[in-house]
Amino acid sequence: MASIRYSIVAPCYNEEQSLPELHRRIKEVMDQTGEAWELVLINDGSADRTAELMRQLHTADERVHYIDFARNFGHQIAVTAGMDYAQGDVVVLIDADLQDPPELILEMIEKWREGYQVVYAIRRERKGESWFKLFTAKAFYRLIYRITDVEIPLDTGDFRLMDRKVVEAIKQMKERHRFIRGMTSWVGFKQTGVQYVRQERFAGETKYPLRKMLRFAMNAITGFSYLPLQLATYLGFITAGLSAAGVVAVVIARLSGSQAFFGQATTLIMVLFLGGVQLISLGIIGEYLGRIYDEVKGRPMYIVNEAVGFGESHK
Ligand code: UDP
Ligand code: MG
Repeated sequence: MASIRYSIVAPCYNEEQSLPELHRRIKEVMDQTGEAWELVLINDGSADRTAELMRQLHTADERVHYIDFARNFGHQIAVTAGMDYAQGDVVVLIDADLQDPPELILEMIEKWREGYQVVYAIRRERKGESWFKLFTAKAFYRLIYRITDVEIPLDTGDFRLMDRKVVEAIKQMKERHRFIRGMTSWVGFKQTGVQYVRQERFAGETKYPLRKMLRFAMNAITGFSYLPLQLATYLGFITAGLSAAGVVAVVIARLSGSQAFFGQATTLIMVLFLGGVQLISLGIIGEYLGRIYDEVKGRPMYIVNEAVGFGESHK
């Protein structure tokens, strides 16, 4: 087989309804390039017929390759596995639910030919999302942009094209709590963006409930910023300053004969306030500590049940 030029990597979690359409659209687009390509599907422990459909697609079209996880490891890890296994000179990450239009890949390839090594897709508009998702996403991207040291472009998801060099660089980053779009910015290289309108999901529900979104946001923040840790220090200084001012205020009040500030309630409020500040600070340290523990354990990032279509290097 001729060496593969393009690897299209799509993580799939309960995407039985979208898979056949994804394959059809990718095929339509990629055949226009006239070069060899593969579609790398990762089954992230789906409970529906996703695995079965992948096998069927592979039988029908041998350019469909797949990795079947032993359980659900999460979107970012699924993408990581896809990058580990992908064989192409160019890797494109795309969601399986067709929210990212495959047609844009041609535009990305165009940019790659001009010499860009990372081409990310910027969401100009999002269709069919709740106001809550729109608002939290907007806030999230802006927060990340502000508090991290890496320049992560606003309103970009994981939909992006990467040159082989970039993929190899990211493969060396072994962190378990991954934020892929931050990592692609961190490695540098020549980057550019193309704009698109994010579509509605082709079928099914979002696989990112609030709980997963929060964990994702925490991974992004802790992975690329120490600000929360420093926040504890700032809070400490602020409360210490306030209490010093409080002492002065009380002395003045006492000297002028006032009986203010001497109730039980004041004491209780102060104790609860300080307790709250301390617990929050502990929690922040805990977040980092837990992540350090995960890294130290050095477990494999994912467990593969079956990987088909990747030649000898990956059995
Ligand atoms: N996904 C995954 N594992 C998960 C959750 C999601 O592989 O635990 C995949 C999902 O199948 C989809 C992509 O990640 O291809 C993005 O997820 P989704 O569309 O649900 O997120 P949203 O677009 O709503 O942010
Ligand atoms: Mg989606």
